[in-house]
Amino acid sequence: MFTQSDLRELLEINYTEPVLSLYLNTEPSKGNADVYKLRLRNLLKNASTAEDKTAVETYFNHEYSWAGRSVALFSCAARGFFRVFPLALPVRDSITLSEQPNLHPLVNLLENYGGYAVILIDKQGTRLFHFHLGELLEQEGWIGEPIKHTKRGGASSMRGRRGGSAGSTDYVSEMVERNIRDITHFAADFFEKKHIRRILLGGAEENIALLRTALPKAWQSLVVGTFPMSMTASHAEVLEHALEVGTRAERERESRLIEELITKSAKGEAAVTGLEGTLNAAVDGRVQTLFSVEDYESSGYQCQSCSKLFLKESKLCPVCGGKVEAIPNMVQVVINRVLLQKGNIEIVQPTPMLEKEGSIGAFLRY
Ligand SMILES: [Zn+2]
Repeated sequence: MFTQSDLRELLEINYTEPVLSLYLNTEPSKGNADVYKLRLRNLLKNASTAEDKTAVETYFNHEYSWAGRSVALFSCAARGFFRVFPLALPVRDSITLSEQPNLHPLVNLLENYGGYAVILIDKQGTRLFHFHLGELLEQEGWIGEPIKHTKRGGASSMRGRRGGSAGSTDYVSEMVERNIRDITHFAADFFEKKHIRRILLGGAEENIALLRTALPKAWQSLVVGTFPMSMTASHAEVLEHALEVGTRAERERESRLIEELITKSAKGEAAVTGLEGTLNAAVDGRVQTLFSVEDYESSGYQCQSCSKLFLKESKLCPVCGGKVEAIPNMVQVVINRVLLQKGNIEIVQPTPMLEKEGSIGAFLRY
C-alpha cells in the first residue's frame, strides 16, 4: 500500500543516475499475466537502462503476484534502489527515466482516493470504515442505546431508565440526541487517529442530517458526500459507493476550484495560470496549490551551472551564460518542486476551462 511517507521518500531521491518510474495496468478484466508481461516488455524496450530492465523483469517473473489492478515501480539499479507498490485502483501504463521519479499518477490517486472515512449511521449506532486507495484498511462499530418507538397510550415495554417518561416523544428524541452525540465523539476519535482527509456519510437522510450538525466544524468541512445505505451493507458495497460518491464530489470540487483559480489569476489576486507563471512561482516557493491537467506534459530547459529553469530554447543560460540542458517534462519538475515545499498538488481531469489557460495553474501563498 502506498502512503504519504512513501511519497516523501520518493520525493527526496536526488541521484545523479536516472530513476526508472513504471506504471503498469493489470486490471483482471484486461488480460492475464502473459498479456501484462508483453506490455511490460514493450514499455521497457526503449526507456530503461539494462540493469533496471533486468531488475524489473526478474521481479515480475519471480515475485509479483499480479493481484492488484495496477502496479507502480521505481528502480535505480545503479544505486540499489527498488520499490514496488501494488495498487487496488487502475492507472494507465507509463514509463519514465529521469532524475526525479514520475509521481504524477500516484499523487493523483492519493489526492482523489487517499484517506477516506465512511460513516454508516442509524439512530442507534454507527459503523466506521477507513479506505485508502481503494482498499479497506479498518472498520469499527459502535452501538448505543436501542431506541424503541412506542405509540402514545400504547402498552410500553420500555423501561424509563433515566427518569424520562418511557415512550414519549421527548424521551425518544433525547435518546437519539445522546446516541448521536456519542457517535460523534467515537467518529471524531477515529478520524483523528487515521488521519482522515475526506468523509462520506451513509444512512437515512434524517440521521445523516443529525450527525452532520453534531460534528465539529473542522470535520464538517471534510464531508464530501452522502448516500442512502443500510447499516448491514457489506464492506464491498460501501467501498463501491465511496468510490463513486468520492469521484463525483471530487469532480465538482475541482470545477469550483478551477473557476476560482482562473478568476483570481485574471484579477492578479495571488494566482497564476500557464506553465511559465506557474514555473516561476514554484521556483520562488510561492505555490500553495498546483492544478495540472492529467497527462499534461511540456518540455523545458535547465542551466547546468546556476540551475535556472526556463521554457524558451536557448543555447546558453540567459542569466549566467552557462550551458543549458533539455528537460523532457517540465511539468514533472514543477510538481516535484511544489511537493518538496509542502504545497498541494491537484491532478485534474482534462477540462477545457483549464486547458484554455495552458493546462496548469496555481494558487499562491503570497
Ligand atoms: Zn545559468
